[in-house]
Amino acid sequence: MSADPLSASERAGILKDLGLVAWSRRGYAGDTATTAESTVAEVPPAAEAAPAARVRETDLPDWEELEQRVAGCTRCALAEHRQHTVFGVGSRAARWMIVGEAPGAEEDRRGEPFVGKAGQLLDAILEAVGTSRDEVFITNIVKCRPPGNRDPRPEEAEACSQYLQAQIARVDPELILAVGRVAAHNLLGVETPVGRLRGRVHEGPDGRPVVVTYHPAYLLRTPSAKRKTWDDLRLACSQVPPKAA
Ligand code: URA
Ligand code: SF4
Repeated sequence: MSADPLSASERAGILKDLGLVAWSRRGYAGDTATTAESTVAEVPPAAEAAPAARVRETDLPDWEELEQRVAGCTRCALAEHRQHTVFGVGSRAARWMIVGEAPGAEEDRRGEPFVGKAGQLLDAILEAVGTSRDEVFITNIVKCRPPGNRDPRPEEAEACSQYLQAQIARVDPELILAVGRVAAHNLLGVETPVGRLRGRVHEGPDGRPVVVTYHPAYLLRTPSAKRKTWDDLRLACSQVPPKAA
């Protein structure tokens, strides 16, 4: 199966819809007030406590070992149907970690996260804030595709969480962007709808700031949510620019 790529005009349309094109070349944080129409929500203090997720340095596998463990993992039932595990991609020194839900069909086929249509929209969003999939680190709550793209079950997310925790400890991101409900709920240990979690900064694993936004697959179905996503991305940029200036 192959992804149906976004055409150049669809992609340009997305960037335009998001109101991003001109702004993306200028930067973030400091100049938001003068370069975009909508305002970033004020950031209230983080209210919800995150589950304890610190991995002790002595227990922490090195990166190659971690990749190998994931590649051979059979800790949950998702191992049975996968073609490839999907570890994650990007910079191991990223300032932002982007966490999605689970690999889909195309990701399972290629062993890489966010390479289907939703992934192309994520790429456009990253480009719009002046970064790219090579400069952030992108992964998912579970590393294997759930059959039929169903939601990962709590026990599957739990079985896989040690890998995400180790990735977070190794990359040591300054900010985590949780895309979609499954990522937000697992990272924050809450069941609040995304619409109520977005627009502010939460305290996540190891006290790291977590910004929640809509999943790009949801944006493909609900273009009216793009404006809010843009506000969320600006909020994230105002906390931590996605790459060093
Ligand atoms: N959706 C996700 O949440 N993750 C992927 O890697 C692809 C689609
Ligand atoms: Fe292992 Fe995670 Fe795949 Fe389950 S989803 S088999 S825990 S790598």
